Amino acid sequence: MALMITDECINCDVCEPECPNEAISMGEEYYVIAPDKCTECVGHFDSPQCVQVCPVECIPVNPEHVETKDQLMTKYRRLLGLDGSVPAASATPPSPDAAQAG
Ligand code: SF4
Ligand code: SF4
Repeated sequence: MALMITDECINCDVCEPECPNEAISMGEEYYVIAPDKCTECVGHFDSPQCVQVCPVECIPVNPEHVETKDQLMTKYRRLLGLDGSVPAASATPPSPDAAQAG
Protein backbone atom coordinates (compact mmCIF):
# COMPACT_ATOMS: atom_id res chain seq x y z
CA MET A 1 0.00 0.00 0.00
CA ALA A 2 1.06 3.52 -0.55
CA LEU A 3 1.08 5.65 2.55
CA MET A 4 -0.61 9.00 3.06
CA ILE A 5 -0.10 12.04 5.24
CA THR A 6 -3.04 13.31 7.26
CA ASP A 7 -3.93 16.87 8.22
CA GLU A 8 -2.22 16.30 11.56
CA CYS A 9 1.04 17.00 9.74
CA ILE A 10 2.94 19.89 11.34
CA ASN A 11 5.11 20.52 8.26
CA CYS A 12 8.28 19.74 10.17
CA ASP A 13 10.07 18.77 6.92
CA VAL A 14 11.89 15.76 8.33
CA CYS A 15 10.18 13.08 6.22
CA GLU A 16 10.77 14.57 2.79
CA PRO A 17 14.55 13.98 2.58
CA GLU A 18 14.16 10.47 4.02
CA CYS A 19 12.02 9.18 1.16
CA PRO A 20 14.12 7.07 -1.25
CA ASN A 21 11.53 7.49 -4.00
CA GLU A 22 11.06 11.26 -3.72
CA ALA A 23 7.38 10.58 -3.17
CA ILE A 24 6.93 13.27 -0.53
CA SER A 25 6.41 16.90 -1.39
CA MET A 26 4.78 19.97 0.10
CA GLY A 27 1.10 20.15 -0.74
CA GLU A 28 -1.23 23.10 -0.46
CA GLU A 29 -1.42 22.98 3.32
CA TYR A 30 0.79 20.12 4.44
CA TYR A 31 3.03 17.47 3.06
CA VAL A 32 1.60 14.87 0.68
CA ILE A 33 2.71 11.48 -0.66
CA ALA A 34 2.39 10.64 -4.35
CA PRO A 35 0.79 7.16 -4.40
CA ASP A 36 2.43 6.25 -7.70
CA LYS A 37 5.88 6.78 -6.16
CA CYS A 38 5.43 5.39 -2.64
CA THR A 39 6.48 1.75 -2.34
CA GLU A 40 6.19 1.72 1.45
CA CYS A 41 9.98 1.76 1.07
CA VAL A 42 9.87 -1.77 -0.37
CA GLY A 43 13.07 -2.35 -2.33
CA HIS A 44 15.00 0.20 -0.27
CA PHE A 45 14.35 -0.40 3.42
CA ASP A 46 12.66 -2.89 5.73
CA SER A 47 10.21 -0.32 7.01
CA PRO A 48 8.73 2.99 5.84
CA GLN A 49 11.31 5.66 6.56
CA CYS A 50 8.84 8.52 6.73
CA VAL A 51 6.87 6.74 9.44
CA GLN A 52 10.10 6.18 11.38
CA VAL A 53 10.91 9.87 11.51
CA CYS A 54 7.48 11.52 11.75
CA PRO A 55 7.14 13.04 15.24
CA VAL A 56 3.34 13.15 15.20
CA GLU A 57 2.62 9.75 13.64
CA CYS A 58 0.42 11.16 10.92
CA ILE A 59 1.40 8.76 8.11
CA PRO A 60 -1.05 5.84 7.88
CA VAL A 61 -1.58 3.52 4.93
CA ASN A 62 -3.66 4.94 2.13
CA PRO A 63 -6.85 2.86 1.92
CA GLU A 64 -7.39 3.99 -1.66
CA HIS A 65 -4.10 2.44 -2.75
CA VAL A 66 -4.12 -1.12 -1.47
CA GLU A 67 -1.16 -3.03 -2.94
CA THR A 68 0.60 -6.29 -2.15
CA LYS A 69 4.31 -6.47 -1.49
CA ASP A 70 4.77 -7.91 -4.99
CA GLN A 71 2.96 -4.94 -6.48
CA LEU A 72 5.09 -2.58 -4.42
CA MET A 73 8.22 -4.35 -5.67
CA THR A 74 6.95 -3.99 -9.24
CA LYS A 75 6.43 -0.28 -8.61
CA TYR A 76 9.94 -0.03 -7.16
CA ARG A 77 11.39 -1.63 -10.28
CA ARG A 78 9.35 0.61 -12.55
CA LEU A 79 10.54 3.72 -10.69
CA LEU A 80 14.15 2.62 -11.20
CA GLY A 81 13.53 1.71 -14.84
CA LEU A 82 14.44 -1.92 -14.13
CA ASP A 83 11.26 -3.50 -15.43
CA GLY A 84 11.93 -3.02 -19.16
CA SER A 85 8.97 -4.01 -21.30
CA VAL A 86 8.84 -7.73 -20.52
CA PRO A 87 5.94 -8.72 -18.25
CA ALA A 88 7.07 -10.88 -15.34
CA ALA A 89 4.51 -13.57 -16.27
CA SER A 90 6.13 -14.23 -19.65
CA ALA A 91 9.24 -15.92 -18.30
CA THR A 92 10.24 -18.86 -20.50
CA PRO A 93 11.43 -22.20 -19.08
CA PRO A 94 15.18 -22.89 -19.29
CA SER A 95 16.34 -24.52 -22.50
CA PRO A 96 17.48 -28.15 -22.09
CA ASP A 97 20.28 -27.41 -24.58
CA ALA A 98 21.79 -24.88 -22.18
CA ALA A 99 22.50 -27.61 -19.61
CA GLN A 100 24.59 -29.52 -22.13
CA ALA A 101 26.80 -26.57 -23.04
CA GLY A 102 30.46 -26.65 -22.05
FE1 SF4 B 1 8.63 7.46 0.74
FE2 SF4 B 1 8.92 5.17 1.98
FE3 SF4 B 1 7.37 7.05 3.05
FE4 SF4 B 1 6.57 5.81 0.84
S1 SF4 B 1 6.90 4.87 2.86
S2 SF4 B 1 6.52 8.00 1.20
S3 SF4 B 1 8.50 5.43 -0.20
S4 SF4 B 1 9.58 7.16 2.76
FE1 SF4 C 1 4.42 16.11 8.39
FE2 SF4 C 1 5.24 13.98 9.74
FE3 SF4 C 1 6.44 14.68 7.46
FE4 SF4 C 1 6.77 16.17 9.65
S1 SF4 C 1 7.46 14.06 9.36
S2 SF4 C 1 6.34 16.91 7.56
S3 SF4 C 1 4.76 15.99 10.58
S4 SF4 C 1 4.32 13.99 7.71
